Amino acid sequence: MSQNLSDKLYTIRFKCDDVSHLTIKETDVCVDCTTKDCNFFCPADVYDWDPSQKITTVAYENCIECGTCRIACPAYNIEWVYPQGGYGMSYKLG
Ligand code: SF4
Ligand code: SF4
Repeated sequence: MSQNLSDKLYTIRFKCDDVSHLTIKETDVCVDCTTKDCNFFCPADVYDWDPSQKITTVAYENCIECGTCRIACPAYNIEWVYPQGGYGMSYKLG
């Protein structure tokens, strides 16, 4: 991640829920996925393929709610909803 992006991410605040708002629908689909696009398109590095467990790990705490993963997984294998009320992102202006 570039320093510039890291600096910008530092300006936003998270209130983290105990329950993930991001779900991998079918773990088998990820096993068969040859491109692992989610490991690259997420600006907050939420998704990471774990080859030893053969699962896509989801660091939902880091999500900045950009919405990309709703449409960018080629198999539409990610369930994305907004965090429940009171949790998630708040952006600072300026
Ligand atoms: S891009 Fe989609 S199908 Fe492929 S590993 Fe990520 S979540 Fe799974
Ligand atoms: S909504 Fe954006 S930041 Fe959150 S997990 Fe999806 S791609 Fe990553």
